[in-house]
Amino acid sequence: MPTTTAAYAAPSTGAKLEPFTISRRDVRGADVSIDIKYTGVCHTDLLQTSDGWGPGLYPMVPGHEITGVVTEVGPQVTKFAVGDRVGVGTYIDSCGQCAPCRAGLEVYCEKGCTPTYNAKDKDGETTQGGYSKEIVVDERYVLRIPDSLPLDASAPLLCAGITTYSPLAHWNAGPGKKVAILGMGGLGHIAIQLAHAMGAEVTVLSRTLSKKEDGLTLGADHYYATEDPETFAQLAGTFDLILCTISGALHFDQYLNLLKLDGTLINVGAPDNDITMNNWALIPARRSYAASSTGGMPETQQMLDFCAEHQIKAQIETIEMQDINDAFERLDRSQVRYRFVIDMTKFQA
Ligand SMILES: [Zn+2]
Ligand SMILES: [Zn+2]
Repeated sequence: MPTTTAAYAAPSTGAKLEPFTISRRDVRGADVSIDIKYTGVCHTDLLQTSDGWGPGLYPMVPGHEITGVVTEVGPQVTKFAVGDRVGVGTYIDSCGQCAPCRAGLEVYCEKGCTPTYNAKDKDGETTQGGYSKEIVVDERYVLRIPDSLPLDASAPLLCAGITTYSPLAHWNAGPGKKVAILGMGGLGHIAIQLAHAMGAEVTVLSRTLSKKEDGLTLGADHYYATEDPETFAQLAGTFDLILCTISGALHFDQYLNLLKLDGTLINVGAPDNDITMNNWALIPARRSYAASSTGGMPETQQMLDFCAEHQIKAQIETIEMQDINDAFERLDRSQVRYRFVIDMTKFQA
């Protein structure tokens, strides 16, 4: 018999989240059941519950920055045992057969990986995320949380962390590289720490200087306000990499012009509208515009181990489940420093 689990769900698009009961499948084969302790609140949760990525599946239980403890393992589980500290990120399945899956890049599965919520799984069931007490996931899509990372402040690493680690690693952020982090929010404040720990020279480009002190404390070497037009003149042709963590509309030509020869701007924002740029922003310095998703399972584990080694975690504001609607409103106005994390241990049905 599937077990029932207390959760919070958006009953329909744009509606306030409310208490809801979901069922989780019986633990079978390589499944592990996880008692969810903390869930980060990703900007995507806000977007998807208001159909920002197209029509959603309702009632929708968001949440894909999950940490917790294993409570049960299936007969074929080899990697985890009851009591292990684990995490679940943005997807919970993929085909396992295609070239990207075999290369450990499951998020780029040719058949499409299965998102942790707002999707249909192999059984045809709607996936429901981490705004719930319990989740059952195949062990291949479960991460180990290193002992030296706290379960609350590491939850955001499962989406915000890997979304920024993966492109920084792929495009070789490291010693001798000048890296700009565009945006100082949930993703940006982790990206600064990662790029700094990788050995790059890190510059933050934020709308104002209001978070400058935090940025420098997190490891930035320089900090500029993009509301100041002087910034764009001063930094023209400077960077090897610009990691854009902003989802809103941007004047991309202006930012591309900050790249040096062969520089790359990687956009990990998830804008819900088309973006425009002029090819002449790229041509004069053979620049590239790129985008990337979260990351494969092996590199997500690598990211967690790297964060443990360098003591990188999110700066969090802990909330209780029933405060989620207020948190969404504040998130929408960028009024959080820098990630909300829901304390699921305090959530009683
Ligand atoms: Zn996310
Ligand atoms: Zn695949």
